[in-house]
Amino acid sequence: MSITGLIALIARTGRVTEPVSALPTEAAIEVRDGFVPPKCLRGSAQVRHVDAGSCNGCEIEIAAAFGPVYDAERFGARLVASPRHADVVAVTGVVTVNMADPLLNTIEATPNPKVVVSIGDCTRGCGLFAGSYAVAGDVDDFTTVDVHVPGCPPEPEAIIAALRTVTRR
Ligand code: SF4
Repeated sequence: MSITGLIALIARTGRVTEPVSALPTEAAIEVRDGFVPPKCLRGSAQVRHVDAGSCNGCEIEIAAAFGPVYDAERFGARLVASPRHADVVAVTGVVTVNMADPLLNTIEATPNPKVVVSIGDCTRGCGLFAGSYAVAGDVDDFTTVDVHVPGCPPEPEAIIAALRTVTRR
């Protein structure tokens, strides 16, 4: 496609990002009693995602939340590749036997003050995978969860609402 064709396509397409007013302010998230987001994370929080045993459904919704339509970065949340760079640990899936230690190591490697966000029904009660021989427990069995996003999978709006409780933007 030529440059002029590309510019014409961009002009025809226009903005695809959901306006902030279209995002629910009271999405169905569960915030731990007494949780106060660290002041130093106001406006900007780096997020390390850990798949502790997900079916990848929740990952698709996280990808959507950070994609061009929902654009979580405009609220100050940004995915990072290392827990050493992170403020928030976002966990998906049940905690499988093989992922229990890596999950704990990731949480340990994240500097304080940190926030733990669990995403999806698997992270609280094990969801569809309850009772499996491969499951060591849910995320609540391993750490204190500050914000939980219910749903199987949760919608991108709810994931964004959870991150906005930390960045408060
Ligand atoms: S909550 Fe649902 S979509 Fe998410 S990892 Fe579990 S089974 Fe998959």
